[in-house]
Order: sequence, then C-alpha cells, then structure tokens
Amino acid sequence: RGLAPTSYLHPPGLLPHDLFTKYGYNVYLSDRLPLDRPIPDTRYPSCKVKKYPHDLPTLSVVLIFFNEAMSIILRAITSIINRTPSHLLKEIVLVDDYSSNEDLKGYLDEQIKNYNAKHPGLLKIVRHQKREGLTQARISGWEASTADVVAILDAHIEVNVGWAEPILSRIKEDRTVIISPVFDNVHFDDFELLEYAVSADGFDWALWCLYEPLPKEWYACTSDPSLGVFLHCSQTPMTGPFQVFLGEIGVLDGGMHIYGGENVELGLRVWQCGGQIEVLPCARVAHLERAHKPYMLDLSIAMRRNALRVAEVWMDDYKYMVYFAWNLPIENPGIDYGDVSSRKELRKKLNCKSFDWYIKNVYPNLIPLTTVVVYGTMKNTLNENICVDQGPVPGNTPIMYDCHAYSSQVLKTSYLTATRNLLLSFALDSFLSHASFVLQGSSVMNKKTKRCLEIVMDNLSSPYRLVMQNCTGQKWNVQHTVKDWGKRSALR
Ligand code: UDP
Ligand code: MN
Repeated sequence: RGLAPTSYLHPPGLLPHDLFTKYGYNVYLSDRLPLDRPIPDTRYPSCKVKKYPHDLPTLSVVLIFFNEAMSIILRAITSIINRTPSHLLKEIVLVDDYSSNEDLKGYLDEQIKNYNAKHPGLLKIVRHQKREGLTQARISGWEASTADVVAILDAHIEVNVGWAEPILSRIKEDRTVIISPVFDNVHFDDFELLEYAVSADGFDWALWCLYEPLPKEWYACTSDPSLGVFLHCSQTPMTGPFQVFLGEIGVLDGGMHIYGGENVELGLRVWQCGGQIEVLPCARVAHLERAHKPYMLDLSIAMRRNALRVAEVWMDDYKYMVYFAWNLPIENPGIDYGDVSSRKELRKKLNCKSFDWYIKNVYPNLIPLTTVVVYGTMKNTLNENICVDQGPVPGNTPIMYDCHAYSSQVLKTSYLTATRNLLLSFALDSFLSHASFVLQGSSVMNKKTKRCLEIVMDNLSSPYRLVMQNCTGQKWNVQHTVKDWGKRSALR
C-alpha cells in the first residue's frame, strides 16, 4: 500500500491552509493518504455474518462534483471498485457540474482512461456545460445510468465494506423502496472516521434535514438490528441529503437551485405517491462533512427558495408552516421560486396522497402550529426602528434593539393563538404567558396583574427599555398576520 501517486499533489506554493479554504477540507492530508486506505468497519456484528444472494440487480454509482479535490474523487472511485462485488457493479458515472479547477479536466480524463483500461467501460463522465447545481447533477447522473439500480452519492465519500449487497437485495425484494445507507462522518481535518448512530432522517418546517432518534418501536420489534425494518415497525420518513434510489416517480425536481430542498421533495414524493424510504443499518458510507461549503457562503438563500417549491407542490394547507419558518408573508412573499406547474401535474398524474395523510401517518413528529394568528418581528408604535429582541445570550432578559429581523427578533415559536394569548419563545414567557393581545395595534397586557408590556426611555440620550408597567396605552404590531390559518378543515 503505497502513497497516492504524486502527480496530482498540489503545487508546493499553495499552503495547506489555502487548500483548506478552497475546498473546506484538509486536501494537503488527503493528497498524502493512500487511495485504498482501510477504514473501520462500522456495521453491527449481525451485519457482518449476514448472507446475501449472489444474484442481485446490477448497480450504477453516480458521483457528482463541483471543484472537489482530485485525490478525494479518486479515493471515492477506489473504494467503490474495491468494496462492491464486481459482478454487480456495472458502472461509475461521474458528473462534473462545470468545475473550473484545471486538474478536473484533462488530468481526470486520463485517469478515467487508465481505469477503463483495467476495467473496460466502468467509468463514464458527464460534464455540464454550465453550472446547474447539485439537484440537476444528480438528475444528469441518473439519466446516464444504465444498471438496474442507481446509487447517487457525493464525490467526497468512501463506501464501506459490504455496503451494496443489503441495498440491492432489499430493492430486489421490493422495487418501490428507496434506500439510504447510514452515513458516518470523515472528519474534514484529520480524515478519521467518526461512527454515526443509525437514525432516521427527518426535517423541520424550514425543510432543513435533521437526524431524528429512532422510534422506540424499532427497537421493540426487531431483535436483529441489521434489518431496516422501518417498514413494519414504523413509518418514519428518511429523506437524507444523499439518496440511493430506484425511481419510477421521476428523479428529482429539476427546478431546484444550487442546494437544498431536493431531499425533502424526494421524501414527500416517495411517501405521498405510494413508495417508502428506509435506512439500512448494514449499508454504511463514509461521507466527508465539509467545514464550509466553498461554493456558497449562505446556503439559506437557495434553501428558502427551494423550500417554497416543495411547500407549494406537496404541502397543501400546511405550506403556511414553511412560510412561518422562513418568516415570509404568505401573500406576495417576494421570492421567485420558479414554475411549479409541471410538478403539480406530476403529483396529479401519480395520484398522490395529501400532506395531511403524510403528516398523520408517516411523520407524526412534525407538529404544525394550527392556531397562529401573527408572526415575525414585534414593534411598538412609539418607535418603529426598534424591535423586541431576545437580548444577550446566556440570559433571559428581552430588550429593545435596532430592527434587523434575524432570528433573535423573530417570534418564531412565539405566536398569537386564536384565543388571543401571546405565547413567546423569549424569556418574556414568565411575565407574558398570561398576556392578552387584541390583535394588531393593541396593548399587550398581563391578564393577571393587569400590567402592560411597554417601552420607556430613562432620559433623552438613553435607549428604550422594555418594561412591564401600569398601562399607558402603548400599542404593538407584529410583522405578519394570518387571516384564516387554523380554520382550514384539514388542520384540525
Ligand atoms: N455540488 C454540485 N454542484 C453545486 C454544488 C454542489 O455538483 O452547485 C456537489 C458537491 O460537489 C457534492 C454534492 O453536490 O458532491 C453535495 O454538496 P455538499 O457536499 O456541499 O452538500 P451536503 O449535501 O453534503 O451537505
Ligand atoms: Mn457532501
């Protein structure tokens, strides 16, 4: 096991730190680690003794990339060749999302030729002629694939031993299942493998993915943890950022930009249109979570736009929760999320179930707020340049502060219920939990003490303070109002 070939080592002029900034991981180290380095086998013991049929569907593995380091991509390819039974691995499809790095052009083509000299026809490359984002890169890879099953992965991965067999045999059993492996984390600094617990992938109302602990029933009804028995035990949705899947319901929403949303869209579409998603504990893939994303500093812009596409197509009345989560007005949100008419048609054509069905049957952990009347920032009519703010953290004293509308000023879980009670997430709780607020432009009064939330200025040069005091008639407004949220029949 020698060191990686030195031909792709970066010029000595580039300091390790510059490389780190450019890629979001320690390229200096990656370039010096063997391409076929061993990684710990993180599977459960029961996975290691499991036998799978020899005869399984064939596999295409898609690796998408935009300006990833050469050694990273070659290590991914090497792991796939070494750890997938060769009679099942039909091809590896690289998708270049219009990278600008020089080494990813001619030098990569040469590498592909070398691999194909040893393994005829194994490697293919699709190159975008302009930057199209990760969703389109995945779609392009899918379209170029010719095997029975397609695994779509980032290019900064190393598959672990025995990763493919559980996936292929599960799909052989049931072709409507979409599988996610368990992703362990390769640390961006030292490239050590950090084992992740098996968990279900869920999402919040902003449609960011998050790990959900496994439901109790999963432990209760399986004595063999190597079985991905979510199917029988629970209906937890798995919508990971990385999908291994077989699809007949369309691949991904090609209208998504740059980053985010495509995973939740896939998850909803699969469940609502008659399929299911499972995490298979015996299939493990090591994924490098980068320290930062070099291609975009603020992912939330793309995420927000893509989330609205998902909301508009798949979430029916519950779409308002996505608008709350992003603090956008429901009418005229001022965000161009593109044309969703063909996605709506697809939903109709496939005769998919409602989001209400989904949330009640598949993902009951996702709780909607059905009684929201107002949301957003909160201002006093005395001075509209300042907003209620959660104040210094740690601490539990809300303050008035120049309005910036970042999260510390958005009454996120704070909302007015239809019964006119003001519920606040800030530390205001203690003195406001019994407050009444007769909608926009009214005072905010604690029902018990009859004192009001008001602002005072101690002298002309000091800033306004937030106080509870005898009411002087000050009035408050919250940024957004919902007219008929909660009255919708589906939300009961
Ligand atoms: N990627 C791409 N085009 C883009 C942005 C990202 O092809 O415009 C690729 C990137 O190289 C990576 C994958 O998409 O292989 C997923 O991106 P990333 O790893 O940054 O996101 P994650 O889903 O892991 O958070
Ligand atoms: Mn990634």
